[in-house]
Amino acid sequence: MIHLDRFCRNLRAVRERIGPDRRICVPVKADAYGHGAVRIAQAALGAGASHLAAATVSEGAELRAAGIGAPILLLSQALPEEAPEIVRHGLTPLVSDRGYIEALAAAALAAGARCPVHLKIDTGMGRLGCSPDEAPGLAAHIAAQSSLVYAGTATHPAASDSALPDERALPGEQLGRFREAVDAIRAAGLDPGIVHAANSGGLLLHPGSWLDMVRPGILLYGYNLSGTDFPAEPVMELVTRITLVKKVKRGESLSYGRTWVSGRDTCIATLPVGYGDGLPRLLSGNWQVLIRGRPYPLAGRICMDQCMADLGPETEIPRWEEVTIFGGPAPSAAELAARLGTIPYEITCNINKRVPRVYMPEI
Ligand SMILES: *Cc1c(COP(=O)(O)O)cnc(C)c1O
Repeated sequence: MIHLDRFCRNLRAVRERIGPDRRICVPVKADAYGHGAVRIAQAALGAGASHLAAATVSEGAELRAAGIGAPILLLSQALPEEAPEIVRHGLTPLVSDRGYIEALAAAALAAGARCPVHLKIDTGMGRLGCSPDEAPGLAAHIAAQSSLVYAGTATHPAASDSALPDERALPGEQLGRFREAVDAIRAAGLDPGIVHAANSGGLLLHPGSWLDMVRPGILLYGYNLSGTDFPAEPVMELVTRITLVKKVKRGESLSYGRTWVSGRDTCIATLPVGYGDGLPRLLSGNWQVLIRGRPYPLAGRICMDQCMADLGPETEIPRWEEVTIFGGPAPSAAELAARLGTIPYEITCNINKRVPRVYMPEI
């Protein structure tokens, strides 16, 4: 279940925090962190976002095919042969080298179009982006192409999500390098366009990184950073229904490897969710599901398509009853992630396409 009302409230809370004048870009990469890119994009634009961000050309094309006309940043580096498609879909790639700039300029020229681009500067993430020293030269190269529009300048923080005081210094240092590079672009007589840097961590912890536009992802999907007071509400809730309830005698085992052996006569519910749906197999025997407001432990190994929960010796819970795996009234994907030593991004992204996304209304 995808609670669009919660998503919109999270977005409005971001708006309140950053004030009326800055823009909001909503990352909808990886199918909006598993929430469904088109529906999230529509909700985001309806609630006041101006930009969207995708990772791949196909993700951008999916949004265009759904009739979405807002600017779509292309965060990852595309292949040179994808340039014509980027132009055709009117996407806004982040560029950081001459080869890519020229490939896009040529594709736009051939199509008789103008392609907007943002210059990406690496200030410490070490992933994509030009060095701050190269930035003014590349900015001038973009501005010199008649088929390109120099529409923005960006960087990405490497440690903004860390609440550790000694690691907080880095975003400040990154921001300093970024501001210097942007100043140098301006000093060269060029307009850097929309200047942006902040992801969720930057938004929460470093107001100096808000600049012209923020790009919060995980916060809008409802996961706060530890130690911050933002009222984020988790948007994803994984719900299923019991497909079978059966009695199991003391000493009987369940599931592959027979690792779980019942210490008592009990009732077992079978649930049609497994690691093939994105429920991590490492949660076997290490998670409780919620039924009628009460927690019940998973029993035995999680299978590809199913898992089992122990309802106890006496149970009123019938077959077909609703079960919450995470989110909603149950612990969230963030708590589940913490159990496994990972992050909520990975949990929600991995909920497989075969799990139907049911959208609760926007308000
Ligand atoms: C994914 C991404 C974001 C959003 O990050 P969150 O941690 O989810 O807020 C922002 N900017 C870029 C470039 C990204 O790749």
